[in-house]
Amino acid sequence: MAKHEHVRVAVIGSGFGGLGAAVRLRREGITDFVVLERADSVGGTWRDNSYPGCACDVPSHLYSFSFAPNPDWPRTFSGQRHIRAYLEHVADTFGIRPHLRLNHEVLRMEWDADELRWRIETSSGSFSADVVVSATGPLSDPKIPDIPGLDGFTGKVFHSARWDHDYDLRGKRVAMVGTGASAIQIVPAIQPDVAKLTLFQRTPPWVMPRMDRAITGPERWLHRKLPVTAALRRGILWGIRELQVGAFTKHPGELGLVEKLAKANIAKSVKDPVLRAKLTPSYRIGCKRILLSNAYYPALAQPNVDVVAGGLKEVRGDVVVGSDGTETEVDAIVFGTGFHVTDMPIAPRVIGADGVSLAEAWKDGMEALRGATAAGFPNWMTIIGPNTGLGNSSMILMIESQLNYMADYLRQLNVLGGRSALAVRPSAVNAWNRKVQNRMEKTVWKAGGCDSWYLDANGRNTTLWPGTTGEFRRETRQVDLSEYEVVRAPKPVGATPAPAARRAARKKEAAQ
Ligand SMILES: Cc1cc2nc3c(=O)[nH]c(=O)nc-3n(C[C@H](O)[C@H](O)[C@H](O)COP(=O)(O)OP(=O)(O)OC[C@H]3O[C@@H](n4cnc5c(N)ncnc54)[C@H](O)[C@@H]3O)c2cc1C
Repeated sequence: MAKHEHVRVAVIGSGFGGLGAAVRLRREGITDFVVLERADSVGGTWRDNSYPGCACDVPSHLYSFSFAPNPDWPRTFSGQRHIRAYLEHVADTFGIRPHLRLNHEVLRMEWDADELRWRIETSSGSFSADVVVSATGPLSDPKIPDIPGLDGFTGKVFHSARWDHDYDLRGKRVAMVGTGASAIQIVPAIQPDVAKLTLFQRTPPWVMPRMDRAITGPERWLHRKLPVTAALRRGILWGIRELQVGAFTKHPGELGLVEKLAKANIAKSVKDPVLRAKLTPSYRIGCKRILLSNAYYPALAQPNVDVVAGGLKEVRGDVVVGSDGTETEVDAIVFGTGFHVTDMPIAPRVIGADGVSLAEAWKDGMEALRGATAAGFPNWMTIIGPNTGLGNSSMILMIESQLNYMADYLRQLNVLGGRSALAVRPSAVNAWNRKVQNRMEKTVWKAGGCDSWYLDANGRNTTLWPGTTGEFRRETRQVDLSEYEVVRAPKPVGATPAPAARRAARKKEAAQ
């Protein structure tokens, strides 16, 4: 007989979001839950991104859970190996292992409006859950652009988030496609070893120096013996970033000074005026994520590196052709071209109360109340949902805010008792989204003159939060029940409106 398990809560994903949710559930006294993870270990981003040079770009003492401080971070910006080990440690310390269902990829989930539960199909069995917490990650599914001729390439191809460690790049001619956060870590890490590196740059990033250093033994000792010192360090790192938010969200003009510093950074490392011109962005700093590196520009100035402005146009056999017409023979192509962000890969797999998928519901753009709940999808919430991303601070702050919201949501369901569900009102989602999008107009991400992965196909920024993390914390402290409709079961036979009728009612409310 096929395996089936019913739980109070099914968490999907075991990165910072899913593990954080699991810890919080246990702290709320909820043990009837599973964590469904498609891979064979926990860690999410920090399991999948093992490329040379991979490290966080927000200081480790802020890029970690407030409830699980790590006095032993080795560097101010620790590497992937240490962050992954930290997440494994969190899974052990907080008793999450028994809840893990590894190698369980969620293939489809559908809301059962009669039973008020989610029916979940995975690659290793079926589950049902009263509540789903979807933490599948905003940067989880790698995106490789459709390059003509790529299929016929005779060499090695891989994405930065799926690094092939069996392939030795030493002495090879390598094309690196993309100049985002991953690429600028990879380039200096591989440049000394490869025979030739051709970097395809569609748009140059702004790059600022990175204050990376080893955390000294005495510092670690102090953080271990006097945890308040680690908390103070975290507080200062947080406070500095909170003070920067206004420049990104309200007064992009103030970023002019930062831009001058970034230009000086290019000038310091790149003496060749032609290369310097290629590497100098033409948009306001902050419009795309500001990247941090001390090694990127010096690596690009080395004789075995070519920067092709304009990006990769085509592949012909083992030749990569740039938009500027240059042709280069290569042995390997590494794509640092980002992820499926605004087209969340889980969305087509989630079927809501109206029989409509989340992908269809979001076809004009992702939207969710407080970045968490979507109209038509009762008892479903997402961690790092629409408009919860940050341009300058730690995503863990946002995740922890959403965990507060999740905990209160479950408390409210308990208070309601019986078999009940909370269905967010379309009018509440609309009001929230209008507020967020109105504020977006003034931000550097909209007004800074760039095209970025923050924007969806319609040019709307559905990824970033246009405020401080403190403000988001306040907005997600509690569930406001007036924003939800309480749905109860069981209903008399025939009382459940047909999907079409439910859809019509929802549309009517949304229009109000
Ligand atoms: C290279 C890199 C560096 C970064 N550095 C920083 C940084 O310095 N600071 C910062 O704030 N943010 C950073 N980020 C952003 C980072 O993604 C978030 O900070 C955070 O790690 C996201 O955690 P998550 O749990 O939401 O998602 P993830 O870590 O992506 O975890 C999602 C999990 O869901 C699983 N999953 C997905 N789909 C399914 C499915 N259908 N069924 C079952 N399981 C599924 C995945 O396998 C994965 O384990 C970085 C991202 C990358 C890629």
